[in-house]
Amino acid sequence: MEDVILRTEGLTKAFRGFVAVREVSLAVRRGTIHAMIGPNGAGKTTCFNLLTKFLEPTGGRILYNGRDITRSSPADIARQGMVRSFQISAVFGHMTALENVRIALQRKRGDCFDFWRSERVLKRYDGQARELLDAVGILEFESVPAVELSYGRKRALELATTLALEPEMMLLDEPMAGMGHEDVGRIAELVKRMAKGRTVLMVEHNLSVVADLSDRITVLARGEILAEGDYEAVSRNPRVIEAYMGS
Ligand code: ADP
Repeated sequence: MEDVILRTEGLTKAFRGFVAVREVSLAVRRGTIHAMIGPNGAGKTTCFNLLTKFLEPTGGRILYNGRDITRSSPADIARQGMVRSFQISAVFGHMTALENVRIALQRKRGDCFDFWRSERVLKRYDGQARELLDAVGILEFESVPAVELSYGRKRALELATTLALEPEMMLLDEPMAGMGHEDVGRIAELVKRMAKGRTVLMVEHNLSVVADLSDRITVLARGEILAEGDYEAVSRNPRVIEAYMGS
């Protein structure tokens, strides 16, 4: 039997009568990079928000490692190992790259409130934080405030803070959005490296990145699954071609 880490059964979300996600049954296999694609308005973001419980489903179930997480809180889901990468918020933007990773490490250890303690306490995370910055290729920018980093480096920092939480599964929301060609290549390499020994589910618009990275692809259109398979299969599917042409 295939090993499925995340499964949805009939996942549905209606907003005051408008069904944005309809009866979506998805199976993400452990250890794979799985992409969710589809034209604008297909329901990708809504689906993502349902999986991490930033939205409550109106129907269906979500199972993570066989456990029903449909009613779990976002924090509980993160504790179980499924972590969503977040854009560095305005709140942490003025902090340096190193401090941002340090906060994520503290969160992982559950001592958020050390945040206010002495430098000595804070510094005990620095070795590990530097390793993570090095892993994503931005160690030389450790003292730069996050807001001052280039776009690509900011996304690399976000990946470092996500990795600090030691996720079993990562959900990446458009990791390449707004990037120039060079950054796309660098971040794609990074995602590939980070995916080793983990599972990744991503929403991504850049189809060449999707083709390069994904083991499996789910195509959504009008809130429903239109096709599923590897890039070869879905890119040849007439229903997929039509959905993209019509968008
Ligand atoms: P995608 O990410 O694939 O572009 P979305 O999940 O953002 O699609 O949106 C799917 C559909 O649901 C769109 O038609 C959108 O207008 C609608 N939608 C999304 N969020 C809400 C909301 N909070 N209230 C009403 N409609 C929404």
